[in-house]
Amino acid sequence: MTTTTLLWLRQDLRLTDNTALELARKSDQLLPVYIHDPKLNGRWPPGAASDWWLHHSLASLDEDLRKSGSRLILGVGPTEEVLKELIRSGNVNRVCWNRRYEPDLVDADRQLKKMLAASGLEVKTCNSNLLFEPWDIQRDTKTESPAPYRVFTAYWRACNKRGLHDAVHHRPDRLPGIPRGVPSRKLESLGLMPETRRDTGLRNHWQPGEKGAQIRLDKFLKESVEDYTNGRNQPGITGTSGISPHLHFGEIGPRQIIHAIKPWTERATGSASESTETYIREIGWREFAHHLLFHYPQSDQHPLNRRFRNFSWRKDYGDDLIAWQQGNTGIPLVDAGMRELWQTGWMHNRVRMIVASFLAKNLMIPWQQGARWFWDTLVDADLASNTLGWQWVAGCGADAAPYFRIFNPVLQGEKFDPEGTYVRRWIPELKALPNRYIHKPWTAPQSLQAGIAPYPPPIVDLKASRERALAAYRQL
Ligand SMILES: Cc1cc2nc3c(=O)[nH]c(=O)nc-3n(C[C@H](O)[C@H](O)[C@H](O)COP(=O)(O)OP(=O)(O)OC[C@H]3O[C@@H](n4cnc5c(N)ncnc54)[C@H](O)[C@@H]3O)c2cc1C
Repeated sequence: MTTTTLLWLRQDLRLTDNTALELARKSDQLLPVYIHDPKLNGRWPPGAASDWWLHHSLASLDEDLRKSGSRLILGVGPTEEVLKELIRSGNVNRVCWNRRYEPDLVDADRQLKKMLAASGLEVKTCNSNLLFEPWDIQRDTKTESPAPYRVFTAYWRACNKRGLHDAVHHRPDRLPGIPRGVPSRKLESLGLMPETRRDTGLRNHWQPGEKGAQIRLDKFLKESVEDYTNGRNQPGITGTSGISPHLHFGEIGPRQIIHAIKPWTERATGSASESTETYIREIGWREFAHHLLFHYPQSDQHPLNRRFRNFSWRKDYGDDLIAWQQGNTGIPLVDAGMRELWQTGWMHNRVRMIVASFLAKNLMIPWQQGARWFWDTLVDADLASNTLGWQWVAGCGADAAPYFRIFNPVLQGEKFDPEGTYVRRWIPELKALPNRYIHKPWTAPQSLQAGIAPYPPPIVDLKASRERALAAYRQL
């Protein structure tokens, strides 16, 4: 009997080290499928920046599949219906996919698997997107049943004890052909592309797809990994890998990163050794984020720390939220970050922490509002990492920053962007200001301030708003 396997691709848009593909390709015919189902992601439909990325990533995957003798079949509509139709038209007898772990998807996957198996199909699901599945690593409580970790260092120690997987499947040269007569939609009909201006901005910064991911990783390893501990804090330079959107869409997997960095880890000494360890630990934070979201499925909306449920957020914040989104708060480092986000779909991690702290603490706007904006504008928008990041900064998450830690954007700027390179790049109005005023233009002499118009004065006083936040947090 001819075996025909349907490979359902989602956030695993690659051919190298793709566990489900490894299983699926051991058949006579292979049907690689992507289904655009706007309802699939429940309360978190992808934002505009994610859609842009997805469009280009699917085009790149199709190109790669064609080089291997296959091609990508696109379906549009409710997942279950589209799958059934493809299974029928392709005479499919086996279905494989890589698991996703977002709360809305876990249940949907379970039901789908049951339904397909009940109709006589062989169904295989795998892990390709994490080093450890969220239930793999649990606290070994001798007296109670296992419990999820809430502290990163303990979680990461347990992961390392297990050993980080670094064996990878190579990219297959040839793939089985696809069955005849299976219909496919055109990529353009998915309606993922934004207006042209945003497209150009994003296109200048990114190359979605497996090849783009590999180029980024290689460049980072060659140029920056050995100084990562230091470089990752400076938003004015390229000190980080910029691999996050590629990881989110599964154009590269974490095992591949651990595998690729191994030679650097083995030969590094001193600070270079510390740097490679730090980088691998950041991949660990991504794992931890998935662990938390899986075990606390409401945490995308509600604070993990229950005491925060009645926190007195401001209610009349409409104008301040818009100023923050548009990068017009009058605080240069915050505005530079928000403008970088809008123009490139990405923001440096240190600046993410600073703009988030400014929103949740100085402006006392609910962190969920910031998380929503990030969700819509980041090309790496990821429910697990975004939730972890926002809850960490707001102080209400697992292993979170203590409530009294309120980033001072002026001091942070003077420490990590002393020459104002980053601020000048994103706020051209401030280009001519001397370094000593670049992070606090409101303190410059009147004659200089006149020259930077229309850059606005600060929308809040940093000291007074810090005191207001501390008072509110103390009430908890
Ligand atoms: C408020 C806030 C929101 C965030 N939202 C997201 C998000 O939606 N998607 C996202 O991928 N990251 C998010 N992060 C985490 C982090 O900022 C980004 O992963 C990082 O900036 C991506 O750049 P990079 O690839 O150059 O990182 P690198 O420094 O090169 O790190 C390598 C990889 O490690 C992982 N990583 C690094 N830091 C973290 C972290 N703190 N938490 C989880 N994983 C991490 C990422 O996958 C990253 O690509 C958020 C952080 C904060 C403070």
